[in-house]
Amino acid sequence: MKKLIRHVIPILITVMTVFSVIPVHAELIPRESIPENTPQEAVNTAESFIKDTLIKVQNGLGYADARAETNKILFNAFLNNQTNGYSYGLLTIIANNALFEYRDLYLRSDYYSAAEEQVKVLISDLITAVETGVLSYEKAKEEAYTRIYKSVDPSYDPSEKEFVDFCYWDIPSVDSAYFNRARKLLLIALKWQDELYETKFLGVELATTRTGMVSITAILEPVTIEGTVVTRAYLHNVDIFNSFKFGIGDTVKVYKANMIIPQIAENATMSNTYKLPMICPCCGEPLNMKASSGGTMFLFCENQHCTARLVQKFAHFCEKTRMNIEGLSEITLEKFIGHGWIHNFGDLYDLEKHKDEIINTDGFGEKSYIILHNAIEKSRKCTLDKFIAALGIPMVGRHAGRILNEYFKGDWTAFEKAIAEGFDFTNLPDFGEIMNKNIYNWYSDEDEAKTV
Ligand SMILES: [Zn+2]
Repeated sequence: MKKLIRHVIPILITVMTVFSVIPVHAELIPRESIPENTPQEAVNTAESFIKDTLIKVQNGLGYADARAETNKILFNAFLNNQTNGYSYGLLTIIANNALFEYRDLYLRSDYYSAAEEQVKVLISDLITAVETGVLSYEKAKEEAYTRIYKSVDPSYDPSEKEFVDFCYWDIPSVDSAYFNRARKLLLIALKWQDELYETKFLGVELATTRTGMVSITAILEPVTIEGTVVTRAYLHNVDIFNSFKFGIGDTVKVYKANMIIPQIAENATMSNTYKLPMICPCCGEPLNMKASSGGTMFLFCENQHCTARLVQKFAHFCEKTRMNIEGLSEITLEKFIGHGWIHNFGDLYDLEKHKDEIINTDGFGEKSYIILHNAIEKSRKCTLDKFIAALGIPMVGRHAGRILNEYFKGDWTAFEKAIAEGFDFTNLPDFGEIMNKNIYNWYSDEDEAKTV
């Protein structure tokens, strides 16, 4: 169904001159044209007076004529005390904004679709973020407005202006149509969350990652959403998990955000009896709760020797953009770590010791061993920047690796010598105090240092 909606939207825009897409029953005024924080009753009041004019615009009445007509009607209604206490000023703003929209929709539809297309490109990531629930509508809207402003005036700084609804009252150089298009697209994105499917919450599955952070995934009774069976929904962090107040067997409503990733929208039961298992699924050590810099709570396995953590770390090391060692899948890594053949990165280059054992493991013949061996040997000749990025020192990635490579002229020994002499890495471009500390922490860690 959603797929259909997405494909239909562009078509709708082109046929808007023929069919009204404005929702029926007392909703002739487009949502995106209503000024922020306007009471619904004021909108209904304005609509009751201007609906005939709006319909006339649908049938070709010009904007100036329509505006003169609504102004006159509203002024008379205000004089006769028929506006439920709402001012003439507020009602004319509602009416004029609606007329702007109608003018674009019905009298210059090419302009309407062109403006929408432009805005769609400008804020496509925000649309996705709202669909997936990553960003609230309000935040996305602010960012969308900023981008629209910046597209006209690159020096525009939102922190210097109060963020009111300048969509309507303070538009120095941008056509309000662009803000309206942004609001419309974000409102549609928000609406996609409304297509909910009911199922049951059966528990969570934890998985430890390379950083030790533990991801939380809800296990659901299988439910078919748009042709695929959904059994799991990612819960992002502990705060989101807590907000749902889960209990086993609770009825939850799920949707496929962006038509791909299943998300839980709400827990209808909220029995709040389910406790997160505070044990690492991999090493069995107790988990800790830690807050991110933004204050979000996450689960962590602090065990430096946790296998899951090592697997991810080795996989990171072997990635194409880092050491580029092919043939070491996470499954293979898990086996090698499980057998105790690799504890640190250095062990990878010493696998020869275990050649016979490796060849005799399930699904790993002589041929795979040779391929792997060659890939590892080849990676010995990598550059310092890739090697540093592969080490997984927190915040020291590929960009930092390139800077170190340049400064130490690709020489690992020079880099090590600098650490031994207490070199201050903050002297390098883009290196902050935390990165400097991370390098020293990493180097002082006995297990880590053995890798090199
Ligand atoms: Zn663990």
